[in-house]
Amino acid sequence: MEFITTPLSDIAPKVTEARRAFDDGRTKPYAWRVATLERLRDLLVEREDRFLDALAADFGKPRAEAWLTEIGFTVNDVNHTLAHLPLWMKPDKVATPVAFKPGKSYIVSEPVGVTCVIAPWNYPVQLLLVPVVAAIAAGNAVLAKPSELAPHTAAELVSLLDDLGDPAIASVQGGVAETTELLAQRFDHILYTGNSRVARIVMRAAAEHLTPVTLELGGKSPAIVSRNANIDVAAKRIAWGKFVNAGQTCIAPDYVLVERSVHDQLVRALGTSIESFYGSDPQASPDFTRIVNEPHFHRIEKLLHNGTVAIGGQSDPDTRYIAPTVLTGITKDDPVMGEEIFGPVLPVIAVDSLDEAIRFVNDGAAKGDKPLALYTFSESDDENDTVLANATSGGACVNGTLLHISNPALPFGGVGESGMGAYHGKFGFDTFSHQRSVHTRSTKIDPALMYPPYTPKKEKLLRKGMVMPDPRDVAAKARSYFHKP
Ligand code: NAD
Repeated sequence: MEFITTPLSDIAPKVTEARRAFDDGRTKPYAWRVATLERLRDLLVEREDRFLDALAADFGKPRAEAWLTEIGFTVNDVNHTLAHLPLWMKPDKVATPVAFKPGKSYIVSEPVGVTCVIAPWNYPVQLLLVPVVAAIAAGNAVLAKPSELAPHTAAELVSLLDDLGDPAIASVQGGVAETTELLAQRFDHILYTGNSRVARIVMRAAAEHLTPVTLELGGKSPAIVSRNANIDVAAKRIAWGKFVNAGQTCIAPDYVLVERSVHDQLVRALGTSIESFYGSDPQASPDFTRIVNEPHFHRIEKLLHNGTVAIGGQSDPDTRYIAPTVLTGITKDDPVMGEEIFGPVLPVIAVDSLDEAIRFVNDGAAKGDKPLALYTFSESDDENDTVLANATSGGACVNGTLLHISNPALPFGGVGESGMGAYHGKFGFDTFSHQRSVHTRSTKIDPALMYPPYTPKKEKLLRKGMVMPDPRDVAAKARSYFHKP
């Protein structure tokens, strides 16, 4: 297909037009936000087939999986947002110190202005539209840039956003040159999803305008499997989380650390799960995705030569197929452990204890490589709690993979090298809002407490009056959490 890029000279005017729309107050009313979100959702549903075809053309994404992880995921996010938006927009009343009374205090979520969303190719629909939904919900204008590496889907996304016919919503299509021009413009917030090298470019460009950024990045997310885990279930959930989208998932379990006594059992169970998902020849399965492009194919193919291939290992450059693969006998120094794999290759590493697994993860974290996700598998709550308490990550799932990001009540974001800031649901709304504090005073009485001349009596009253009302029952409840027997 011919990939049409936005002329560089059109980019600044698009931002100017979006800013004009924002400054006119178009995007602030509740009614605009709801109508725009509904229209976006309805267009997406109407064009479902076009999107599913585009995703299949870009990287052979199976229709059911594409619906679940892209269309369904985004529609669900819009519906969740619409259901909660009045609550999120409503000013949030907070307590006021006695000395400031009569008066009241509240927090108002204000739109920040003109926002920019830059997305990658691996879940091209949801990673562009879910942040766009949050930006619209928060009352902003938005410039959206899909990834050029999923060109069919990018064309559909651009067409959908253009067909909203709203001057506050614009899209830019292209690669490095167009994104560089886009980043030269002044925005009020940028949400970038992709790799940490480009994240540094985005942050540098944002610094020029003191624009806040949310960076949704990747990294090596570990799965830790205890000898007390339900091995069959753990294997199935790890295999699903790893091989969905052929491992091209930012929160896919990148590698497994398993207690030595159950290592062989886990590897066997992974083999059983892979066969139950994709049959004995995954290349013939309609449910297994292909690698997005040749450079990624060759990068991942090289990793197949690390350690011992326990399962899979086949590849086909013509169709950019890499089999669901499990590697054993891997050491920390193997290339497969030196970078985020982002493909269907799963190293399984035996450890002598959960402590060793935690140390392994923390060695990376000490260098800033805090993972985006961490998975812990055990039937013992104590073991899972120990892993969670001693190894950090952006998000975590106990006895499961991936699903923590599908709950819109949970924030989705990284920490350290895996990113900063978060979105999804209310967290997206907050990300694209300025939390403005407002204190309203009554003029009926004007206590002289704060005004000079200061007297010992005034000071005494002020010291007492500055103390915030103590919500004792709430604090007591929280304290009891930390004093569990
Ligand atoms: P990509 O190549 O599609 O790039 C992402 C975006 O950055 C694209 O829109 C691209 O045009 C733009 N870009 C590329 N080079 C640029 C440059 N020099 N200057 C300005 N913009 C540029 O995708 P990718 O980065 O390969 O994505 C994969 C990475 O993203 C992985 O590390 C993965 O873990 C991470 N990821 C994170 C999340 C998350 O939500 N945390 C989700 C998906 C992917």
